[in-house]
Amino acid sequence: MARPLPDILKIQWPPAADRPPADTEAALDRAVGILRAGGLVAIPTETVYGLAADALDADAVAGIFRAKGRPATNPLIVHVSDVPMARGLAGSWPAAADAIAARLWPGPVTVVVPRGPSIPDIVTAGGPTVALRCPDHRLARRLIEKVGRPLAAPSANRSEAVSPTTAAHVLTSLGSRIDLILDGGPCGHGIESTVVECTADPPRILRPGPMSRRHLEEVVGGPVVWPEGVAADASETPLRSPGLHAKHYAPRTPLDMPADPAAHVAGLLDSGARVGWMTRAADGMQVRRLAGARELVIVPMPDAPADYARLLYATLHALDQRELARIVVDPVPDTEEWRALRDRLARAVTRPPPGSPGAPT
Ligand code: AMP
Ligand code: MG
Repeated sequence: MARPLPDILKIQWPPAADRPPADTEAALDRAVGILRAGGLVAIPTETVYGLAADALDADAVAGIFRAKGRPATNPLIVHVSDVPMARGLAGSWPAAADAIAARLWPGPVTVVVPRGPSIPDIVTAGGPTVALRCPDHRLARRLIEKVGRPLAAPSANRSEAVSPTTAAHVLTSLGSRIDLILDGGPCGHGIESTVVECTADPPRILRPGPMSRRHLEEVVGGPVVWPEGVAADASETPLRSPGLHAKHYAPRTPLDMPADPAAHVAGLLDSGARVGWMTRAADGMQVRRLAGARELVIVPMPDAPADYARLLYATLHALDQRELARIVVDPVPDTEEWRALRDRLARAVTRPPPGSPGAPT
C-alpha cells in the first residue's frame, strides 16, 4: 500500500510572546512523538528546511539517508539547542569552535569537531569528526529541547536537488517518504550554513555560506582559510575532503550561466526554446529588448547577496514548475561576499555529460 502524504502543521511564535501558542505547542509535541519513535520530521530553520531524525538513533538516521537517496559517504550536520549540548557530543572542543559557538550561535555556521562516543557512525559517515550547529530559529530549538536529544538534519530534499526554503518545496521533493512537515513559513537566509573545520589550524571553511570569512576571523581572532586547492567555484575542482561531494544542488530544468546571458537567451529564443532568465539587470537595455518575447520568463534578481540568497532556491523551484527548456542566470560578481552564491550556482549549472568535451573528470 502506498504511504500517505505527511501532514503539514503550521507553527509560529510571535516575537512578543514568551512561549508559542497552544496549537504550535501541540504540533511540536506531535513531532516529538514521531522523532522519539525513530521517524522523520521536516523542520524550518533560518537557513533551509531540514529533514530531522534523532541523531543518537542510528536506525532513525538511516531513514534520512533512505528518504533523501543520500550516499552513505556524505555525513550529516547535528543540530543542538545550546552550547552545552554541543560540547556533550564532541570528543574535544577546539578553541575555534568555542569562540564560534559562544559568539555566533545560534546562527548559520556549523563547526566540525572531534566526535564523542555517543555519535553513531552513520552520522559522520564513519569519520572521526562531527558537524554541529545551533540554529537561529526559536521553534527549531524548542523542538530540540522538547525531544531532549540532538537532531541530525540535512536539507529536506532528495539528494542533489535544490534545497527547500518552504514547506511546499519539502512536500514536492520528499512527499510520502517522510512522516510530518512543520511549516514555519519561508526561511530567513535561504542558503545552507557556513561549515568550518575547527580541527584544522588555522580553521578552514569547508562550505561557504551566510557567515562570511571576515566575520569568522574577527570572532576566532586569527586567520580562517579556504581549503588549499579548492577553487571559488565548485565546478572547477571536485572537492576531495571527506563528505564534500562535488554534488549538484540542481533544478530539473537545465541551467546555464553564460558570460553573455543576453546573447545566450536570444540564441535560445531563436531556436524556439522556452526560456527563464534570472537577471540582476532587469531594467537594462538588453533585457528590455528581449522582454516582449512570448517564450521568455524574466525573473528580476536582487543586487544584494543576502537578498539574492533568500530568493535563489525559491526562484529555481518556481521556474522548475514552468515547463521551460532552459533557465539562464547572469553570472554573479567574483567577490568574497558572493562566494557562497557562486558556489551554489556553480553546483546548479548543467554540466556536459561525462566523456564529452569540457566534462569534469
Ligand atoms: P547538508 O546536510 O545537505 O546541508 O550538508 C551537510 C554538509 O556538511 C555537507 O557538505 C557535509 O559534507 C558537511 N559535513 C557534515 N559532517 C561533516 C564532517 N564530519 N566533516 C566534514 N564535513 C561535514
Ligand atoms: Mg543538502
